[in-house]
Amino acid sequence: MAHPLQTPLGQLPGVGSERAGQLQRLELGTVGDLLLHRPRRYEDRRHFQPVATLRLDQPALVCGKIIAAGLRRLRGARSVFELVIDDGSGRLHCRWWNLPFMEKYFKTGEEVVVFGKPASLRPLTLDHPETEIIQRMETSVHLNRIVPIYPLTEGLPQRWLRSLVWRVLEQFESAIAEPRPDLRVAGQPIVVEAASVPAPTRAQAVRMLHFPEETADQEIARHRLALDEYIELQIAIQTRRRNLEKNARALPCAGDNRLIKPFLAALGFDLTAAQTSVLRAIRLDMAGPTPMRRLLQGDVGSGKTVVAACAALMALESGASVALMAPTEILAEQHGHNFRRWFEALGIAVEVRAGGREQLSLAPFGAGTMRFYIGTHALLEATFTPEKLGLVIIDEQHKFGVAQREQLVRKGAYPHLLVMTATPIPRTLGLTLYGDLDISVIDQSPPGRGRIKTFVRERASLPKVWPFIARELAKGRQAYVVYSRLEEEDSAAGVKAVTKEFHNLEKIFAPSRVGLLHGRLSSLEKERIMSDFAANRVQVLLATTVVEVGLDVPNATVMVVENAEQFGLAQLHQLRGRIGRGANDAYCILISAGKTEEARRRLKVMKETSDGFRIAEADLQLRGPGELLGRQQSGVPPLRFGDLSRDIKLVEQAREIVLETTVSSSC
Ligand code: ADP
Ligand code: MG
Repeated sequence: MAHPLQTPLGQLPGVGSERAGQLQRLELGTVGDLLLHRPRRYEDRRHFQPVATLRLDQPALVCGKIIAAGLRRLRGARSVFELVIDDGSGRLHCRWWNLPFMEKYFKTGEEVVVFGKPASLRPLTLDHPETEIIQRMETSVHLNRIVPIYPLTEGLPQRWLRSLVWRVLEQFESAIAEPRPDLRVAGQPIVVEAASVPAPTRAQAVRMLHFPEETADQEIARHRLALDEYIELQIAIQTRRRNLEKNARALPCAGDNRLIKPFLAALGFDLTAAQTSVLRAIRLDMAGPTPMRRLLQGDVGSGKTVVAACAALMALESGASVALMAPTEILAEQHGHNFRRWFEALGIAVEVRAGGREQLSLAPFGAGTMRFYIGTHALLEATFTPEKLGLVIIDEQHKFGVAQREQLVRKGAYPHLLVMTATPIPRTLGLTLYGDLDISVIDQSPPGRGRIKTFVRERASLPKVWPFIARELAKGRQAYVVYSRLEEEDSAAGVKAVTKEFHNLEKIFAPSRVGLLHGRLSSLEKERIMSDFAANRVQVLLATTVVEVGLDVPNATVMVVENAEQFGLAQLHQLRGRIGRGANDAYCILISAGKTEEARRRLKVMKETSDGFRIAEADLQLRGPGELLGRQQSGVPPLRFGDLSRDIKLVEQAREIVLETTVSSSC
């Protein structure tokens, strides 16, 4: 039998098919859905404001009697509907433009609650306020309490929905169960700190969500319901992890050093302590029968690629093949270039698959040859069937969804998995979105790097920025100019705009050469421009965001980002990471057209810190996890109550709760 909370709303008395359809448009299909329908705000109808005390532009909640109502037709099809309300202390006008049907809903003599901001004082007027007619019968639900105001859909009245929630709560409250029998961490009950009270039961929290007794109840309810969301998430994560440990058997891939030794000797530099300690963890993972699931996080330029190469060599030494997937063709080509240089001397065949064409390595591909595959999404195609795949490496993980990651992993029988990202992962995300991965951090950059100075400038100062760049060019350096209007990036219009900018810069920087890189070029053209820039045949690279990830040109010392306010902080941090890779000081100039306070605050963070973790935390707080992880990220779970930018403690508690109950139930 279905659980009572699964009861379709359409089966409840008083909910006909029309109402059920409207509820469905709000994605409310069952009793359980309705009980979690989150009010968008609350009105404290225990206290109304006397009309006589209303102030300009201050939101106010008023309750009074309608003493006049009328529709005035204006010229054309325009109209204004007006109500006059009297609450004993004064009169208030309410106006709605071009909504003639409002006339049907109000009659003189009725009592209404209105909520809005006075737009003028003489006469005292609210424009387009929210309203609700009060029928004295229902005062216990709609009056004399803090009432919920729900998101609605066309045709669905606020009051009807509120009454439905009230009824459903009366009938089904007892069916709301606790997700875990014992909500304790280390023997202690969970406390809602914001209110210094013990966490309520889930059923109590649901009631508080809809009908809080006190203002503080709203946060208490959110806290508890968010905790439950995190508990659900942790159960999924921990179950997946346990199943992997129980069922999956990976090839032991720790290697025997016969390739790594000569590789490191030929590299020309020593690994940093951070790189070495990450490699130690990777070797331990790959030695065991449980497949590695490791996230390697290291700031741009911290040297993740070399670590990936060593991990690959361990697998290759063990006789397995390795696949590395990168988000763009340019990046795949760059990896191809590096890995060929490194690996072919060791007798390893390197194959690049990007943009639908295959480039076979020059090394002989005989039977028993160790193989290293590099590619873009092309690796996900059915035609790619690597033999004995022992290790999957994913570069710039945040550009891929979890599903794509798994698709590549399934090309082998439980291969080890190493995902790499330059986006620092705040701890809340580490425990939720990446909860099924072990996390290693490279927290140290290779020695001998110059400093990066960051400036924020308005568009008007561009004429002063160009001569500055010209001076760097005169010193033999190179520059990136990132030009992107995100809404039309790489569309025909975007290409036209960037091409215009290109001709402009060609004139400004002559005789230095300018290259143009955008998403609509063929992979061959992109590759040519990139290699021209890398070889310093082109000195200024004008690019849309394709330049964002992974490019490594140490001679580039300037990064100009136009329309910088349109980018997320994590993205700007990535862009800035393209410079400062050599011994010379470097300059990042963020050109902002954004006038908003938020835009200013965000760019200020960039100016003040180069600490990727601080930037990521700030991005998480300012824009939420979806933006931080990039638009492509499909693994963001829909949290209704949880707020990953501030719930670190709750996330940790949920993890503990699930860990503890799992441990005790398996004893
Ligand atoms: P990212 O972490 O951004 O992928 P890369 O792996 O591209 O960084 O490394 C950036 C640059 O630093 C490369 O040119 C690489 O060869 C160099 N590098 C990596 N590790 C070291 C090291 N230990 N010492 C000196 N240079 C290093
Ligand atoms: Mg990289």
